[in-house]
Amino acid sequence: MDIRSMTADELKKLTEEIGEKPYRAGQLFTWLHKKHAASYGEMTDLSKKLRQKLEEEYPLVTLQPVKRLISKQDGTEKYLFGLADGNVIESVLMRYHHGNSVCISSQVGCAMNCAFCASARNRLIRSLTASEMLEQVYRIEEISRERVSNVVVMGMGEPLLNYDALLRFIRLLSDSEGLCISQRNITVSTCGIVPAIFRLADEKLQITLAVSLHAASDAKRKKIMPVAETYSLEQVMEAVRYYFRETGRRISFEYALIENFNSSAEDVKELAGLIGNFPAHVNLIPVNTVKESQLARPERRRVEDFAKKLEKHGINVTIRKEMGSDINGACGQLRNSYMK
Ligand code: SAH
Repeated sequence: MDIRSMTADELKKLTEEIGEKPYRAGQLFTWLHKKHAASYGEMTDLSKKLRQKLEEEYPLVTLQPVKRLISKQDGTEKYLFGLADGNVIESVLMRYHHGNSVCISSQVGCAMNCAFCASARNRLIRSLTASEMLEQVYRIEEISRERVSNVVVMGMGEPLLNYDALLRFIRLLSDSEGLCISQRNITVSTCGIVPAIFRLADEKLQITLAVSLHAASDAKRKKIMPVAETYSLEQVMEAVRYYFRETGRRISFEYALIENFNSSAEDVKELAGLIGNFPAHVNLIPVNTVKESQLARPERRRVEDFAKKLEKHGINVTIRKEMGSDINGACGQLRNSYMK
């Protein structure tokens, strides 16, 4: 395993094995996760000999910035990062009044093949390691010279199909000796991998789970999300109820509004019926029309109308604010144009 994906305990074991004093593990952890060292050369309080040994046996995973675009509208920043194997991933920095939020990718490509999503066109190339997920946050802090307070795993990939690395990522990101981002400020978005939601609930983390619904009936959902062929909405709801019972964390449902598909009064009723009085929050996303799909977003008036109707059913709802639309802000678009 690469050294930036290791827990504090694993680092201790490693320093022991190579015959170093235990306190070296703490120094290493600080360099890797607090100071975001990009090379062993920076770790000046470690001996040259140790640095050389680590360099040879544990090459450091550091992402290479390939491109940085800054929105003139709202200061949103898009980053393309190169991985050691030549793959390229996309991350976003968003500025809100409550702080800076970074959206990271969890895989290169994605196997889920949702009809509206630009990432779907790449298939799955591979999952990211914990260090590659952490590095997206670390490099953005270093390059922008700003603190990041929130992290959302909503970029390319299905995080719950990269379960072990995701868990390492969450634990390292919230570690008090690292960036120390509160788990309450970390959101993981899934298309609804039911067994992984149950497993995640048992970890008793304090993160927010966001579930991509996009349709309130199985028949409709199957038309845009192939994962609906594997897990029914009933199974998804059972899993999120369990998640809430075990963690006390309210679930966030994402619902991308698509013209002439899931935005009618009938759809509101169906969605309200599905959620019932379950303590959740619905985030409405006017669908981003990506080159790869023909799906259109409804007019603003219809989006607001959908929200109002849902509220009348007693459901907590917000409309997602669009950011960085002048810099290929939407899901996977920058990477796709770069790859071409
Ligand atoms: N695989 C995970 C996380 C990545 S996608 C998931 O499915 O949740 C992050 C969110 O962006 C999901 O809710 C996804 O459905 C949504 N999304 C993808 N493409 C979109 C588009 N073109 N317009 C609006 N939302 C989109």
